[in-house]
Amino acid sequence: MFGIVGFPVIGVAGAAQKAGITYIGMRNEQSASYAAQAAGYLTGRPQACLVVSGPGVIHGLAGLANAEKNCWPMILIGGASPVYQNGMGAFQEERQVALAEPYCKYAHAVEHVARIPYYVEQAVRTSIYGRPGPVYLDMPDDIIRGEVEEEHVQEVTRVGEPPRSQANPEDIEAALSALESAERPLVIVGKGMAWSRAEQEIGEFIERTQLPFLASPMGKGVLPDDNPLSVGAARSHALREADLVFLMGARFNWIMHFGLPPRFAKNVRVIQLDISPEEIGTNVPTEVALVGDGKAIVGQLNSALNNRQWFYPADTDWRAALKEKADENLAAVQPMMQDESRPMNYYRAYRDIQEWLPKDAIIIGEGANTMDIGRTQMQNTLARHRLDAGTYGTMGIGLGFMIGAAVCNPDKPIIGVQGDSAFGFSGMELETINRYKLPIKLIVLNNGGIGGGMGELPTDRPIPAPILTPGAHYEKVMEAFGGKGFYVEDPADLRPALDEAMAHDGPALVNVLIHPKAGRKPQKFGWLTT
Ligand code: ADP
Ligand code: MG
Repeated sequence: MFGIVGFPVIGVAGAAQKAGITYIGMRNEQSASYAAQAAGYLTGRPQACLVVSGPGVIHGLAGLANAEKNCWPMILIGGASPVYQNGMGAFQEERQVALAEPYCKYAHAVEHVARIPYYVEQAVRTSIYGRPGPVYLDMPDDIIRGEVEEEHVQEVTRVGEPPRSQANPEDIEAALSALESAERPLVIVGKGMAWSRAEQEIGEFIERTQLPFLASPMGKGVLPDDNPLSVGAARSHALREADLVFLMGARFNWIMHFGLPPRFAKNVRVIQLDISPEEIGTNVPTEVALVGDGKAIVGQLNSALNNRQWFYPADTDWRAALKEKADENLAAVQPMMQDESRPMNYYRAYRDIQEWLPKDAIIIGEGANTMDIGRTQMQNTLARHRLDAGTYGTMGIGLGFMIGAAVCNPDKPIIGVQGDSAFGFSGMELETINRYKLPIKLIVLNNGGIGGGMGELPTDRPIPAPILTPGAHYEKVMEAFGGKGFYVEDPADLRPALDEAMAHDGPALVNVLIHPKAGRKPQKFGWLTT
């Protein structure tokens, strides 16, 4: 449970601790709600965010909306003014259930003490059965303080693992036949597959079919980025030229350019695997729909492969073209990776970061260039080891995600890489990180602006909107709470600072000065183009 206490929920936090629930007190409800959903996605069970009435709930809505867009479970528990003061202008009185409703799968007020378990069971079950999502429970002050005879409490059982529904066997055969008939097939692995814990099944499927694949930003790691069948380095080309796409637990939304030209071929054929039937056919008609759980269905595909000799051949023009494009793209960034000028560019910074990253690190990326370039330069080898701004493109998730990841993975390195603007949204959570001694290693790629910066603040005109303080010493915020801080200007100092940060037994922040005009390698299409 992540939260901030006050009226009327302070007793809830205390009771939770007494019941053995880990409670992490944070500094802003937004971050607490981000921490809860990261923990939910990583553990497979919904985790709670506890907030006070009115403004506390409003701040927590940010997390509900983000979780809803990402299809992640979480439970927001909002304190509320007492029922007997409804409509009177009570302290922090608000229409909380109505406000939460558009951002979640289920929102309800608890109206009787005896029924608290009933609503908790319903909320937990709704959040993880079917397409996962956030839920909201409203807890008025008089319910929290209310009493009931034990014998009158409505008993419930613990919610079991979500049922794993399978696809229609004819559709399994149809999907394999469609793949066999394709000239330029492409598999896209999304975070729905990470959520369903399908990594072993997908590994077997790709191994047996030899199909080229791409991962979505958070689908990265379900299969290792360094798998030879990954065509991540030829992403644009692979999307544009594929004649058949197998969409696995991913959506044709803005991240996948809606599945439409010019980023995809006109009339691209689509096989779609999703737990949500309503998702089938969004933006592009689906040729074969596999509706159900990702892990179960890829298992079905693997069984069905036993009756087929087929795999996608090694020597096709499609493979050769993808390889050529990937080599070209990798060569294009080499000069930037080797550039030792000061302040450094992103690719130079990421060269050291990638070499330094432990294989089992959970990587949290946030920012504009920091996140986009980081996604291509930092390799993932394990499922559910990358978190970022996601489907909603939310800035400010970073520190909450790091805290959520650290609390449920005390044995793994938690590495955050944030832009300076992204860091600022919730920088005060460094106090939380130090208070709980979470050994998070945070790197701030600091270009002094939202997107780009300026070397110095102008004195002859108003400060342009995207500009932040050049060379701000964010590492000192870490030091203020007892952690270790590093400020790196010279590329030669980066690796030693990273090593020292890792060796430090506790939280550390490495603040890296980036050239204010540094950017991505030239792109064929801008990231947000259709
Ligand atoms: P990405 O951003 O990685 O493309 P999205 O969040 O857009 O991923 O899509 C994830 C999809 O996965 C959603 O459409 C969701 O319904 C689906 N999904 C969620 N859980 C499962 C599951 N257990 N099995 C299959 N699909 C799932
Ligand atoms: Mg910046």
